[in-house]
Amino acid sequence: SPAYDLIIIGGGPSGLNAGVSARKAGLRYLILEKGVIVNSLFNFPTNMTFFSTSLKLEIHDIPFISHGDKPTRSEALEYYRRIVQSQDLKLHLYEEVVGMSPQTGGAYRVKTNRGVYDTLAVCVATGFYDTPRWLDVPGEELPKVKHYYNDPHAYIDQDVLVIGAANSACDAALECWRKGARVTMAVRSDRINDRVKYWIKPDIENRIKEGSIPAYFGTTVTAIRENEVDLQTPEGPLTLPNDFVLAMTGYQPSYDLFERLGIPVGDDEACQPIFNPDTLETQLPNVYMAGVACAGRQTSKLFIENTRDHGDIIVRNISEKLGIES
Ligand code: FAD
Repeated sequence: SPAYDLIIIGGGPSGLNAGVSARKAGLRYLILEKGVIVNSLFNFPTNMTFFSTSLKLEIHDIPFISHGDKPTRSEALEYYRRIVQSQDLKLHLYEEVVGMSPQTGGAYRVKTNRGVYDTLAVCVATGFYDTPRWLDVPGEELPKVKHYYNDPHAYIDQDVLVIGAANSACDAALECWRKGARVTMAVRSDRINDRVKYWIKPDIENRIKEGSIPAYFGTTVTAIRENEVDLQTPEGPLTLPNDFVLAMTGYQPSYDLFERLGIPVGDDEACQPIFNPDTLETQLPNVYMAGVACAGRQTSKLFIENTRDHGDIIVRNISEKLGIES
């Protein structure tokens, strides 16, 4: 029989959660992570604070200690590092899954940049943070255009255009402006996104109203050059001086990866991987989805808080199939 019962792809909060579930159930499991432990969180803005309280992020009754109600990025990194170490999770870092093929007897062979793993079941917990939504405008390839924002220090005394009006865009605009960047916002819709955190929304709206952060609504970016950007505003085209573009236009799961794994995806706007909501099993037998990747393009629907039961659901289903009492 294959060497593993369960290969978990992705060492984010959801993959680690599934790993703890698998360990508790006595499954032969392995987590494969292409970067570091909780790689997405590692790449979140340096000074960010989670919108969830630490209590709501806790998994498997392992206490999440933070100084405030809501943890910071570095407190979250510490939490997941301690989970990996205290639970002795079986995890390979810097190992990227590149494909998968079905084997005889219903098993799978998972291929990585380093080797192959034969397994009875697979859990896909690959999130959405690796694939930005591109603007598709000329100049987007310039190094001054960033799809990930980390630290305001880089933007002090610079002309910065922030594109978007959801949480990441508002956080970046406010933080850069407060540290001394000249910030302008270009927003496709006619207002700040309704899902922006309730303690951030009035802050950004008041900075816009008082003119500290000029914002162009109903506006798209049409071109980016070394020292300028072109906007299409409701009043007509406009060119602004520009040093950096923070394109906070969101992310989406890697559909290229789903294709290489052979996981069918819905053909509607949400583009969700197709799975049974009761078991999280995809149309490939014994292949499961976990965490925010389940939401497809609707990335604001699922987060850590409301996917914490995924690990146990999947492992219970696999254990039943294998006839293991959990
Ligand atoms: P991820 O954390 O993205 O984990 C996926 C992992 O898979 C990554 O480590 C990635 O490197 C790895 N991977 C991808 N492809 C491969 C491959 N081919 N081979 C191997 N490994 C691979 N949620 C909350 O509940 N509360 C919050 O306060 C909160 N704040 C957020 C703030 C920001 C700025 C963002 C962007 C999101 C926030 N979220 C929050 C949403 C959610 O918590 C995160 O998206 C979270 O990281 C989702 O966990 P996940 O394990 O499903 O996916």
